[in-house]
Amino acid sequence: MAQARIGLIGLGVMGANLSLNIAEKGFPIAVYNRTGSVTDDYVASAGDLAQQLFPAKTLEDLVASLSTPRAIIIMVQAGAAVDSVIDSLTPLLDKGDMIIDAGNANFHDTRRREAELSKLGLNFIGMGVSGGEEGARHGPSIMVGGDKKSFEVIRDILEAISAKHHGTPCADHFGPDGAGHFVKTVHNGIEYADMQMIAEVYGVLRDGAGRSAADIGKLFETWDKGQLQSYLVEISGKVLQTIDEKSGQPIVDIIVDKAGQKGTGRWTAIEALSLGQSPSTIEAAVAARSWSSVKDTRIAGEALFAELEPEKGAAKISDDDLEKALLAAKIIAYDQGLNLLSAASDEYDWNLDLASCAEVWREGCIIRSTMLDEMASAVREGLPQGNLIFSPRFAQRLVEGSSALRRVVASAALQGLPVPAFAAALAYFDTMRQGRGTTDLVQGQRDFFGAHGFVRIDTGETDQHGPWASD
Ligand code: NAP
Repeated sequence: MAQARIGLIGLGVMGANLSLNIAEKGFPIAVYNRTGSVTDDYVASAGDLAQQLFPAKTLEDLVASLSTPRAIIIMVQAGAAVDSVIDSLTPLLDKGDMIIDAGNANFHDTRRREAELSKLGLNFIGMGVSGGEEGARHGPSIMVGGDKKSFEVIRDILEAISAKHHGTPCADHFGPDGAGHFVKTVHNGIEYADMQMIAEVYGVLRDGAGRSAADIGKLFETWDKGQLQSYLVEISGKVLQTIDEKSGQPIVDIIVDKAGQKGTGRWTAIEALSLGQSPSTIEAAVAARSWSSVKDTRIAGEALFAELEPEKGAAKISDDDLEKALLAAKIIAYDQGLNLLSAASDEYDWNLDLASCAEVWREGCIIRSTMLDEMASAVREGLPQGNLIFSPRFAQRLVEGSSALRRVVASAALQGLPVPAFAAALAYFDTMRQGRGTTDLVQGQRDFFGAHGFVRIDTGETDQHGPWASD
C-alpha cells in the first residue's frame, strides 16, 4: 500500500493551504479533520493535487497511511485543542514518531508538551508559520524549534514549501523546545508594532491634515517603492484605496475602529516583562488595540473633553518627515524585538542565531520587507552593545530619522493626536543615547523608604545608604 510521507490534522484556513502546498511540492500527505465533511469538501476542491492526498476519516486511518517514523503536523487552534489532539494521537504512535505543532502556540506550552512527549519516546516540534492563508499555500516563513535531528527529517519538506529569498529558503531551525514558537511570537509582536505605527501615520494625516483615505493610500503606495518597502505598507495602501461596494465609501471609513487580537502581541509583552525587557513599541501597539476596544468610553471622552482646543504652535508635518519618522520608529521596534530574542535565548539556553531570525522573515511572512535583508546583514556583522540602533548601517539613518520622529511626535502631541508607538520609540531612543539618566533619583527614593542601597559613582562601592533625615 502506498504510504504518505507526512500527515496533517486540521483542515482549517492554514491547514488546508499548507497541506496543498506540501502536496504541490511532490510530498504525498495524509490529511484528517475533526469534522469529516470538511475533509470531503477539501479533497473535492483539490483538483489534480488530490492524487497526492491520503484523506483519512479517523486518526487510526491517518496513522496507518504514514510511512515510519511518522511525522504529523497539527494545525488547529492554539491551546486546549492542541492538547486534545495530542492526547488522542499519542496512543496510536510508536517511539521515534514526530508530532509538529504548526499553530501559534504559547512557547511555554511547547516546552511542556516537548517534555511530556519525550518521556513517551516521541519527538515534538514547535513550528511557527507566518504568511496567512496566501503564505501557507504558496510559501510561508517557517520558524522551527525542537530536536535538531527531528528537524533534519522534515527539512526537505519545509524548505520546499517555504518562501524563498533569492533562492534561500525562509525556513530554519532556531533551537530546542519552544525556540521556534518564541521566534514566531516575537515576529507577531513586531507585526503589531509595524501595523500600529503605520496606523499612526494614517491618523496624523487623516485627523491632523484632513487628507482622504485614497490620498493617504497613494502616499503609502509611493513609500512602498522606497526604503519602507514592505508587505504591510503595501497592503495598507491597498486597504485605504479600496471602495466599499455597498456604500460607495472608502472601505476604511465603514470599518469599526476596534482592533482584535488573538494573544501573540500580548504574550510578547508579557514574556518581555518577565525577562526584564521592555519592547515599548510592541507594548504600545498592544495597548492601542486594547484601548481601541472601549469605543463607548472613547465616544464619552470625546464629548466630555470637547472644549479642549489643540495647543497652538503645532508645526505642519510634512510627508517627508512622516516617512523618515516611520523608518526610524521601525528600526527601533526591530531593535527591541531582537533584544527580546537575545534575552530569551540567554534565559532558555537556545543559542538563537538572531541573523537567521531576520533572514527567515525576509520573505513569506507578514513583516517581510526590504529592510530585513539589511538588518540581517547588520546582525551578521555584529551589533555594538547588541543593539541594532547602534549598528553603522542604521545609526546614521537614526540621526536624521529621529529628528523627523521628534517633530512628528511633538506636533501630534500639540494637536492632541495619539501616537503611542511613535512616542514609545522616541523615548526609548532618547533613553539609549543618554549616558546619565534619572534613575539615580529613583535609587535615592528606594533607599530612603526601603533601605535598598545604591552604588556610588566615585568609589564604585555597592550597598551604600544615604544620610536621610528621620524628620
Ligand atoms: P481555523 O481556520 O479556525 O481552523 C481550525 C481547525 O482546527 C479546524 O480544522 C478545526 O476542525 C480544528 N479544531 C479546532 N478544535 C479542534 C479540536 N479540539 N480537535 C480537533 N480539531 C480541532 O484556524 P486557522 O486560521 O487555520 O489557524 C490554525 C492555527 O494556525 C492557529 O493556531 C492559528 O493561530 C495559526 N495561524 C493562523 C494564521 C492565519 O492567518 N489564519 C496565520 C498563522 C498562524 P473542525 O473543522 O472540526 O472545526
